[in-house]
Amino acid sequence: MEFGWSDEDATFRNDLRSFIASELDGGWEGAVRHLGSPENVAYSITFNARLAERGWLTPHWPAEHGGGKSTPWQHIIMGEELWSIGEPRGPQYMNINWIGPSIMAHGTPEQKALHLPLIAAGRVIWCQGFSEPDAGSDLASLRTRAERDGDEYVVNGQKVWTSYASVADYCYLLVRTNPLAERHLGISVLLVPTSTPGLKITDVGSMVGEHAFHELFFDDMRVPVSCRLGAEDEGWAVVREALSYERVGAPRYARAAFQLDAAMCWARDSGIKLSEATIERVGQAYASCAAARLLAYRVMDERSKGLPPGPSGNIARAAMVNADRLVGQCVLELQGPEAMRSGAIADEQFRKSLAAGIAAGSYETQMNLIARLRLNLPKG
Ligand SMILES: Cc1cc2nc3c(=O)[nH]c(=O)nc-3n(C[C@H](O)[C@H](O)[C@H](O)COP(=O)(O)OP(=O)(O)OC[C@H]3O[C@@H](n4cnc5c(N)ncnc54)[C@H](O)[C@@H]3O)c2cc1C
Repeated sequence: MEFGWSDEDATFRNDLRSFIASELDGGWEGAVRHLGSPENVAYSITFNARLAERGWLTPHWPAEHGGGKSTPWQHIIMGEELWSIGEPRGPQYMNINWIGPSIMAHGTPEQKALHLPLIAAGRVIWCQGFSEPDAGSDLASLRTRAERDGDEYVVNGQKVWTSYASVADYCYLLVRTNPLAERHLGISVLLVPTSTPGLKITDVGSMVGEHAFHELFFDDMRVPVSCRLGAEDEGWAVVREALSYERVGAPRYARAAFQLDAAMCWARDSGIKLSEATIERVGQAYASCAAARLLAYRVMDERSKGLPPGPSGNIARAAMVNADRLVGQCVLELQGPEAMRSGAIADEQFRKSLAAGIAAGSYETQMNLIARLRLNLPKG
């Protein structure tokens, strides 16, 4: 693995930073920064259109789908720079990182023609309907049923914790098409407009933030068979591939390091004298961000060499959670009573770090996979 940045990549990062600084000037504040709020979504549409104009929204995609203007490393540079400031692409980071690539890999020509240009232009919001009340870490136990009726599926069931559903145009929905098959085999993926009759979306309040979570209720929702992504009953392989991109698609270490920088500046400006023990913990937190970053780079290195997704993605994700949590603890300690103020750096980081080990596959699930796939330990 080569650790240095090429001149081309370093120039790209500098150009991107200048662009971000001028684009976000003044507008990237308050409710606009709350991922999934109506203000955030409206902002993301404008910001992403500007990125798209420069070929920077989906630069890692193949040229035939509106990309092709970057090295695979520029994809991660983009993620780092944007996540470090709170992800102004809004919910669309999901489309760009894994929903679009999943459609590219498994979609019909019609699905590609419909969805990929919209994603590449930054004009569409997706949500992902995976988790159910009894299917979270054990996703393969999902029960939302899609029964075939001629050219349509009739969907009944429920999803939960669906981020951005209230503002999404489409849902990347996991359903059970064959309840008799072995549980990993009877699953399919449907690409469903959220305006489809029979789908009800309700808010779920949470500590993560307003508009963060939703429940989806399906009551005889009819979806054309042409909306199925990949073969019937073979959706598990499709979704596993998408999830492997999800694990490193959001470089949380960049955001955590940014928050730690901000808290250190706050401590300096507030005239706070740090104890030896606090300084040591700050050092450990920075080191954990650096470790997570290198482990994410290893995944990118494998991907750029065309290797199939492996346990490196789980290791990188576990390291990102560790970094997020350590920084969460550290900024709490740095800010002390100031952390009680809603919107304080520590308040925001601590709440985000609690959720980090749950979203996109829980920390414990990652550890189980690492034990089995990398350490060859028996399944517990
Ligand atoms: C910020 C955020 C955003 C999310 N967005 C979405 C979304 O857009 N779409 C969506 O579908 N879902 C979403 N989720 C849901 C998320 O995917 C699930 O919460 C997650 O998969 C865990 O499932 P669960 O909540 O049912 O917990 P459970 O699976 O019930 O787990 C509870 C606890 O038990 C542990 N555990 C479970 N099984 C094992 C095991 N075998 N060994 C050891 N420990 C175990 C888990 O690690 C966890 O700590 C989101 C969650 C968060 C926090």
